[in-house]
Amino acid sequence: MAYYRSKPTPGRHFLQIPGPTNVPDRVLRAIDNPTMDHRGPDFGRMAKALLEKLRLVFQTRGPVVIYPASGTGAWEAALTNTLSPGDRVLMCETGWFATLWKEMAERLGLVPEFIGTDWRRGADVAAIEARLRDDRGHLVKAVCVVHNETSTGCTSRIDEVRRALDAARHPALLMVDTISSLASMDYRHDEWGVDVTVAGSQKGLMLPPGLSFNAVSEKALRASETARLPRSFWDWKAMLAANATGYFPYTPATNLLYGLDAALDLLLEEGLPNVFARHDRHAEATRRAVRAWGLETQCADPRHHSSSLTAVRVPEGHSADALRAVILERFNMSLGNGLGQLRDRVFRIGHLGDLGDLQLMGTLSGVEMGLRAAGVPHRPGGVQAALEFLSGNA
Ligand SMILES: *Cc1c(COP(=O)(O)O)cnc(C)c1O
Repeated sequence: MAYYRSKPTPGRHFLQIPGPTNVPDRVLRAIDNPTMDHRGPDFGRMAKALLEKLRLVFQTRGPVVIYPASGTGAWEAALTNTLSPGDRVLMCETGWFATLWKEMAERLGLVPEFIGTDWRRGADVAAIEARLRDDRGHLVKAVCVVHNETSTGCTSRIDEVRRALDAARHPALLMVDTISSLASMDYRHDEWGVDVTVAGSQKGLMLPPGLSFNAVSEKALRASETARLPRSFWDWKAMLAANATGYFPYTPATNLLYGLDAALDLLLEEGLPNVFARHDRHAEATRRAVRAWGLETQCADPRHHSSSLTAVRVPEGHSADALRAVILERFNMSLGNGLGQLRDRVFRIGHLGDLGDLQLMGTLSGVEMGLRAAGVPHRPGGVQAALEFLSGNA
């Protein structure tokens, strides 16, 4: 049965939201294996190898913790394992997801300072550096940045954020949300000196929702020894002790781990540099289409364009949600909605995960047909611009 349509629709649904993304057949087949004894010998062998392989996509030699939870859980784990009540944290308002993480920090009893943006670019690195230089008493315990802000299609430069911390000689932990960038865009946990990387299963990793991750530096592990925020389910300590032999302190999401194993194989067989180049190329093709339509991307800084999604502004007086509804109804495609202050102002094209050139062209065709069908003012030719670029004649 089709779960996603109330009426039968021929052809495959186009799930082009920026997560959850399309799950490759090989991953679905892997998930469709019998659940095994998670305390038995086969499980331990599988999980031990899996935990090793998982480090490659984070570009880290350190441990990566896996939770049976959505990405929000891994946000909470990052904060509660490293910080204490009343700790000051410097966060960057890049968009809706950064705002949710900041609200979580408040609810947990932390004291976030929020550096603003106009939601059209990545984190303001100069402002981060200035604030850290100002903080001579080192009251700021962590800097938290969303690498790829999924609500706006803007990416923050984590290498530059690292340099800002170093230039200010500030000892704060660096925590980065890579939920919609990991395994789509180049990301280097070790090289960029990140202390906790937060990730999720349902975006670049091409899995269904249900797993999330913390990659953890030695400095973060040391901080966890004295951190006093209450934690139990999220505690790294019990998790890492059990993981050392391939087991978990509570029942893991066994079948999603089979899927993760298959997804990692797919990514490593393609080669991470090729995966990143594919996403860059699809993002460029999409932006050329948007430009040819005479529309604007939400991201206004060319250095911050996301390679995993493109948020497109609809002209003043038009409704992005009405456009998305027409595209769903007529062409059986789901696009991402506008979140927070961008509600009804943008639609978001997900081009991350398991995506080939023709799927992207189908997606852009659906958008162009939708713009016409919904009466949104635009110029034709976006699809043409994208196909010229993808076929090498641009
Ligand atoms: C999707 C997403 C989240 C939320 O993750 P859930 O799995 O829905 O809990 C957080 N941050 C970013 C950047 C995201 O893209």
